[in-house]
Amino acid sequence: MDFSFSEEQAVLRETIIRFALKEINPLVEGDHFAREAWAKCGEMQLMGLPFSEEHGGCGVDFLSTALGIYALGYACRDAGLVHAVVTQILCGLQIRQFGTEEQKKKYLPDLCSGRRIFAQAITEAGSGSDALAMRTQARWEGGAFLLNGSKMFISNGPLADVVIVFAVTNPEARTLGGISCLIVEKEFPGFERCRAMEKMGLKSLQNGELVFEDTPVPAENLLGREGQGAIIFNESMEWERSLLPASHLGTLERIFETCARHARERNAFGQPIGKFQSVAHKIAEMKMNLELGKLILFKSASMKEQKKRAPLEASIGKLFISESLKKACLDAVQIHGGYGYMCEYGIERDLRDSIASTIYSGTSEVQKNIIARLIGL
Ligand SMILES: Cc1cc2nc3c(=O)[nH]c(=O)nc-3n(C[C@H](O)[C@H](O)[C@H](O)COP(=O)(O)OP(=O)(O)OC[C@H]3O[C@@H](n4cnc5c(N)ncnc54)[C@H](O)[C@@H]3O)c2cc1C
Repeated sequence: MDFSFSEEQAVLRETIIRFALKEINPLVEGDHFAREAWAKCGEMQLMGLPFSEEHGGCGVDFLSTALGIYALGYACRDAGLVHAVVTQILCGLQIRQFGTEEQKKKYLPDLCSGRRIFAQAITEAGSGSDALAMRTQARWEGGAFLLNGSKMFISNGPLADVVIVFAVTNPEARTLGGISCLIVEKEFPGFERCRAMEKMGLKSLQNGELVFEDTPVPAENLLGREGQGAIIFNESMEWERSLLPASHLGTLERIFETCARHARERNAFGQPIGKFQSVAHKIAEMKMNLELGKLILFKSASMKEQKKRAPLEASIGKLFISESLKKACLDAVQIHGGYGYMCEYGIERDLRDSIASTIYSGTSEVQKNIIARLIGL
C-alpha cells in the first residue's frame, strides 16, 4: 500500500490551490453566485477534470479528480461555488457512464467549459431521504416523454441550462425498473426554474424548485435505458459521496491550519491558548479526523477509479467527513472566541456552510442505515 501521491497529483493540487487563491477568491465577495468565478473555473477545466480531452475535459483519473476538488475546498473561500462545480462534474459523470455517444458529444463539452450549467434533480417536496418515493412522472405519449411534477432544493437549479431529472416511468414497477432519467433543457416547454431559496449557509449556491408541466422530452434525451434510474442513482451517489466529502476534507484542512495558527499566536494568562489542553485537544481531534478522512476518501475514490462498487466506503466517508467538518467548524468558532463569532473573520461562515453537509447527498441518519444494511443488519 503506497500512500504517497504522484508528481502529477502534487502539481494538480498546487496548481488548483494557487488558482483559487489568486483568481477565484478576489471574485467571490458577498453571497451571490459569482458568474465570473464560475467562468474562470470553466477556463481552468475544473469541471472537466475527469472527462476525456475528446469531450473537452482534461482526462485525469477519479482519485486525482477527488484530489483536485480537495484542493479547491481547501483554498476557495466560497464553499457554495465549490458545491456548484462538484454538481456540474456529477452530472457529467452520469452522462459519461450512461449516455449515448450523441449525448456525450452534445453535452460534455459545454459542461466541461461551464458554458452551460447543469443540475441533477431527485429530491421532491414530499420525498428526500426516501428519494425513490418520488412522484414526478414521465409518460410516453405522442413520440415523447411527457414530464409532470416538481423537484425541490436542486443545486444549480435556478440557473440550470440542463437538468438530469429522475422520474417515474412505470408506476407499477417503481424502484424495480420503474424510474428513469431524462435530460431536460431549459428551453423545453412547460419547464420552469423557480427563484433561488434563501439558505443558512452556502449562500452563493443556487438552490430551488423546478416545475415540469407536460414538458415533452424527446426519446433521445433518455439517459441510460428506460427503468435504469435507480441504478444510475446508486452509482451516482457513490461518486457524489466521494467528491463532496473531498471538498469538505479540504475545508477541514484549512480550518485545522487556521485554528493551529491561532492557538499558537493568541495569548491568554501569559501563554499561547494552544497550551491549554482543552484547546489543544480540539485541534488534535481535527488533525485525527483529517487523516482518517483522507484514508476512507482515497479508498472510495480509488475503488471508483477501478470501476468497482463502493457503496459502503462512500457512505462511511460521507458520514465521517461531514460530521467531522461540522464538529471542527463549531470548535473553530469556540477556539477563536469573539473573533470566531464575528462575520468579518470568516470563521462563522464555515460553520453555516458545513451544516448542510450532513443533510445533502443523504443525511447522516440515512448513511448509518445504509452502512447497517450493507453489513447485514
Ligand atoms: C444545500 C442542499 C443542496 C441540495 N442539493 C440537491 C440536489 O442538487 N439535488 C437533489 O435532488 N436534492 C438536493 N438536496 C436535497 C437533499 O438531498 C435532501 O434535503 C436530503 O436528502 C434530505 O431529505 P429531506 O430534506 O426531504 O429530509 P427528510 O427525508 O424529510 O428527513 C428529515 C429527517 O428525518 C430523518 N430520516 C428520514 N428517513 C429516515 C430513516 N429511514 N431513518 C432515520 N432517519 C430518517 C433524516 O435523517 C432527517 O434528519 C439538497 C439539499 C441541500 C440542503
